[in-house]
Amino acid sequence: MPSILLLSCYELGHQPLSLAWPLAMLRAEGMDVAAVDLAVDAFPEALAEKADLVGIAVPMLTALRIGVDAARRVRTLNPGAHICFYGLYAWMNADYLLRGDDPVADSVLAGEAELALTALARTLRHGGDPSTVPGVTTVERSADPLLSRVDLLTPDRSLLPGLDRYARYMADGEARLAGYVEATRGCLHTCRHCPVVPIYNGRFFAVPAETVLADIRQQVDAGAQHITFGDPDFLNGPGHARRIARSLHERFPAVTFDFTTKVEHILEHPDLIAELAGYGATFVVSAFESTTDLVLSKLDKGHTVADMERALRILRDAGIAPQPTWMPFTPWTSLDDYLHMLSWIRAQGLIPYVPAVQLSIRMLAPPGSALLDDPDVGAWIGPLDAANFTYRWDHPDPRVDELQRQVTRIAAHTGDDDPYAAFAAVERAAYALADQAQPEPVSAPYFIVQPPKLSEHWFC
Ligand code: SF4
Repeated sequence: MPSILLLSCYELGHQPLSLAWPLAMLRAEGMDVAAVDLAVDAFPEALAEKADLVGIAVPMLTALRIGVDAARRVRTLNPGAHICFYGLYAWMNADYLLRGDDPVADSVLAGEAELALTALARTLRHGGDPSTVPGVTTVERSADPLLSRVDLLTPDRSLLPGLDRYARYMADGEARLAGYVEATRGCLHTCRHCPVVPIYNGRFFAVPAETVLADIRQQVDAGAQHITFGDPDFLNGPGHARRIARSLHERFPAVTFDFTTKVEHILEHPDLIAELAGYGATFVVSAFESTTDLVLSKLDKGHTVADMERALRILRDAGIAPQPTWMPFTPWTSLDDYLHMLSWIRAQGLIPYVPAVQLSIRMLAPPGSALLDDPDVGAWIGPLDAANFTYRWDHPDPRVDELQRQVTRIAAHTGDDDPYAAFAAVERAAYALADQAQPEPVSAPYFIVQPPKLSEHWFC
């Protein structure tokens, strides 16, 4: 029987579902599986030395960077191991991982990955050819991501580090243990810059409600007082979301939750938003991205700045804290647009809701991104920087690229205690580069009331 090692690299401070679901599927087949989360534990040399199959989960860019280093260590320790990368960023970067100057992967898969991973393990167990496994891409054969409904088992969290090793839910001056589930996978929408789109292309799959609720139960039993619904968009299936949130509240009335949804869905479902608040929703992550309608249309976001203002009112009327996320640096965002975003954040009273890291984010154009279908792509795209997993682009105004570097430094050196000071530092940099007088900084209240949030910031 092959010995399998699953590695996760970084998942925004959550206990990794990208390990828990494959663990459930592989162990149900009686396979010998170990799992290590490199975000909280050291690289497991002894396990890597004896593994026949090493699966590395890379659902986001930061994870891919860490995962490539981990794969190199596996190769050195155990050259005979089959190394498989799985997750959104694996598939987009398959060429580099399989065929780069120093290839680190033997196979790559994405989509409903558990099925393909289990089939791959079974094939290796019988000495078969991995290239024949549906959904598995190798040097010899490219396969599309598997997008068929999987009978998902309840995630197996028994081998994972405890919730106390992960991000906390911060509210009312307390830090509480937090759990993480997904009620759907994929997304109904096709925003151009989104890494979900090249894989799912407008499709999503609902996880059976009882599976989600069983996963919530095991995390509440482990001490979670708050649950994050980490679906790309929780309201793609509004009836499904309502059913699960209502059951969560009936079964665990003291447990709060947060979810992610797009502006359009907030506008479509104001009554549902209020209902979810009644079930314990305390904050909502929503990708606002920009305060320039031209940029929003370039990204195909399906909303306008006026829509963002209406969405904010709906959330606030429901008593839910907004957590807008941003894409402030794109080839189409001018320095004036950036200043406009800062003044809009001020005017909407959002300073404590926007950590500095959000103001530093630069658009990525990974291989396979729908951004490459932009009719004007030739006007802004540079060469592929495969080792950094993105096409390069420079802003036509060098001050904008300089501002991005400065805001990145500010974000790295400011903590969460005083969001007003961090915001003022960003304003100082932006107005100086624009050669304009900085507006009087917004003074922090005597006692800063932090909105409910997780202790680890959202970014991609
Ligand atoms: S950005 Fe959000 S709404 Fe748009 S495609 Fe991605 S997950 Fe879906």
